[in-house]
Amino acid sequence: MSRRRTVIGNWKMNPTTIAEAFTLARARRGTPHQGVELGIAPPSVALSAVAGALRGSDVLVFAQDVHWEEKGAYTGQVSALMLRELAHGAIVGHSEVRRDQGDDDARVAAKATAALRAGLHVIYCLGESYDQRERRETDAVLARQVRDGVAAIDRGALADGERIAVAYEPIWAIGTGEAATPDQAAAAIAVLRAELRRCGLEGDAIPVLYGGSVTGDNAAEFARAEGVDGALVGGASLKQEEFARIVAAFR
Ligand code: PEP
Repeated sequence: MSRRRTVIGNWKMNPTTIAEAFTLARARRGTPHQGVELGIAPPSVALSAVAGALRGSDVLVFAQDVHWEEKGAYTGQVSALMLRELAHGAIVGHSEVRRDQGDDDARVAAKATAALRAGLHVIYCLGESYDQRERRETDAVLARQVRDGVAAIDRGALADGERIAVAYEPIWAIGTGEAATPDQAAAAIAVLRAELRRCGLEGDAIPVLYGGSVTGDNAAEFARAEGVDGALVGGASLKQEEFARIVAAFR
């Protein structure tokens, strides 16, 4: 089955000035990406500047997180209704957000529901920890994250599933320089797709990205791996040349 290929650069809490974010985003406009949906996810304070820098290009803007409510007494948070003026979509469930804000599967599902209801696209992150992999619990953890998370997204909001992609991000591989092997990624993604199907979702149609220490050197292996439809890239997405090599690998 042919699925869209997507590469998203997650800038995390970088860069530290809006002017720099604007300059980085301008540079991304020139990244050749025919056949690949290309997006960048800057910090929320830089969304407006980055959206401006990318206006008129087909490089998409994503938020790194979104709140599950539309508005109200949620200090420090950003809602999907606010984001839709600035962003094409939002990442939800990133392990750093789960870690720092205590998000569980139900809350990530609520965030995804809110984003989809507002018309945004969603990159839904999940993945096992190092300890879970060591205890051979990876498959069970992934299946649970699909069941209690992705499958808990409001079905009306999810509609035909056209606006969601899943990102398999083993926590032990994020920012560590120790990427999963393409075989490990393919095996995990097969488990994810099987569980999506068991939950009545279009497991074969939903794109699944791999994330975790993707570099210009290893991207081509992931692009060839069974079931990998793209990459969610952290550290390497801040480097123009390297990010361009990653995007090129998925073209
Ligand atoms: C991420 O932030 O989603 C990520 C995968 O980071 P890195 O590429 O730096 O491992």
